Amino acid sequence: MHIRKVMVLLLAVLGLIFATWIAAGQQARRVDDLALRNAGRTGEEWLTYGLTPGETRYSPLKQIDTTNVTRLGLAWSYDVGTGGGNQEATPLFWNGTLYGITNWSIVFAVDARTGKERWRWDPEVNQVTVRPKICCGIVNRGLAIYQGKIIAPVIDGRLEALDAETGKPIWEARVAYPQDNYTITMAPRMAKGKVIIGVSGAEFPVRGFFAAYDAHTGQLAWRFYTIPGDPSKPFENPALKKAAETWSGEWWKLGGGGTVWDGMAYDPEADLIYLGTGNGGPWPEQLRQSKGKDNLFVCSILAVKPDNGELKWYYQPVPGDSWDYDSVQGFILADLTINGRQRKVLMQANKDGFYYVLDRLTGAFISAQPFALVTWAKGIDPETGRPIINPEAHYDQNKESIILAPGPGGAHNWSPMSFNPATGLVYIPTSTNSTSTFALDTNFTYKPGERNLGIIRGNRGTGLGVEPPPQPAPTHPSPPAVGPVPPEGQRGMLVAWDPVTQKERWRTPGGGGIGGGTVTSAGNLVFQVIPDGRFVAYNANKGEKLLEIQSGLRGGMGPPITYMLDGQQYVSFLGGLGTLPPPLPNAPPPPGTVPNGPTVPPKLLTFVLDGKAPLPH
Ligand code: CA
Repeated sequence: MHIRKVMVLLLAVLGLIFATWIAAGQQARRVDDLALRNAGRTGEEWLTYGLTPGETRYSPLKQIDTTNVTRLGLAWSYDVGTGGGNQEATPLFWNGTLYGITNWSIVFAVDARTGKERWRWDPEVNQVTVRPKICCGIVNRGLAIYQGKIIAPVIDGRLEALDAETGKPIWEARVAYPQDNYTITMAPRMAKGKVIIGVSGAEFPVRGFFAAYDAHTGQLAWRFYTIPGDPSKPFENPALKKAAETWSGEWWKLGGGGTVWDGMAYDPEADLIYLGTGNGGPWPEQLRQSKGKDNLFVCSILAVKPDNGELKWYYQPVPGDSWDYDSVQGFILADLTINGRQRKVLMQANKDGFYYVLDRLTGAFISAQPFALVTWAKGIDPETGRPIINPEAHYDQNKESIILAPGPGGAHNWSPMSFNPATGLVYIPTSTNSTSTFALDTNFTYKPGERNLGIIRGNRGTGLGVEPPPQPAPTHPSPPAVGPVPPEGQRGMLVAWDPVTQKERWRTPGGGGIGGGTVTSAGNLVFQVIPDGRFVAYNANKGEKLLEIQSGLRGGMGPPITYMLDGQQYVSFLGGLGTLPPPLPNAPPPPGTVPNGPTVPPKLLTFVLDGKAPLPH
């Protein structure tokens, strides 16, 4: 063999290897199970709803820090549509592209360098037919990304896989029908090649469930009902047979409730999916003919196996719930040292006002303390993990009208909290003085296909044109409060909570349980979007405000994300209500909608150090 020939061949081979290496470097890493397991580890991308598998919304990025955060300015903005409600979605960032979802489940992809639209997909929801089935706003909270697909929930009960490059549909699955009173608002999550999604709508007569779909084909893998069905028919699984013992009467005829509309996390190490379930239907236990019974699995936290949907454990924060304390709020999974023991925990700031810490492998109760004003319960029994409910709180059994805290909006609702392992603190957007009058509707008659709350509830009104029903005067004094009592007039706070000691470290005014949200970073920062349109930053350890920008959107705000692109750290979020449709007769305005005045078309805003673009106004 000639030396020269060998050399030429060798150079050719090396060249080929080099070219392949370059091409691989340029090609985006596929979002597979390994990528999701490592999601958020570098902070470069934002690949899943809560950034990390533990849904911590903690970014290790620190280019933006306490010394330079004041230099943040707008880089660009993108008009997401005409609006029609809150922007509740957490955008995703992958491969130089931001993906988002807005009102009526319209999905879009935007070039993150320029803010120019790459594609847009409209599921063409039958708005006239679907709208009366939507309980709480024409909203969606997010997307999933997996193997080149954007997986989108559609508010009318569909699940859609779109090509991440083109926005063209790849498959469509029917999760549920709005004709059966179901809608979908939550962000799907991925677990071992399956898309997990739950349904909303427990103010209507529905039987709650969540389901898993094959990410490649859209085929249904399994479905888990959260409420036992008609006991004269076979139960779907042993867990539901057991759950049926906690009900009486003919509950299944009213649906039962227990929808799954927000909180979810998948721990690949434990190989468990965690989900939260909502209120029973109708709200008062009395009307579910189940006085004193737990009504599993309403207002519960469930852990199931992703392979088959088998229930591993459950914990029910509010047995027999009569107050709409949906236990669906977002989870944070973390490893904490509690009483000298290393614990793998699941944490939730519940609508009911208590901060729960559970062992996520077994479901064992560890601790719970009030992070906001609470009058429905005295506390949580440390041995059993069951609430010590004030007897007066059972307004339905007592036939009394009573003011209780929190109200159905909750002390913390869907607005995402975040956990910073450096400070050890959880940042909870909190409604500090949520209260409501509860009174049983003694004239309750079941209305098929409509809202069946079963209570006469006071409503503060939101100025959107619907006059709230008259608030019944309390016939019974409120029980004594536990938890921090807010100063007069104080409504929304960002609460920095130590989950190990179960104590508040600091609090600062602004925000609340519904709208906006937080992200925290290794730059010792907490970024918060406040429902009135403000974008603020605090130092994470002390809560001192370092930045405040009125975004100009003034309502309908979503949570912020942060990521790196071309060596620069960015912060992006959605906001703006746009044109609101006229209120429906006999339906309260959606919670958290900012009242009055002209609203700004909704936008995706992106901030960067020394950004100079003008803010919308
Ligand atoms: Ca509810």
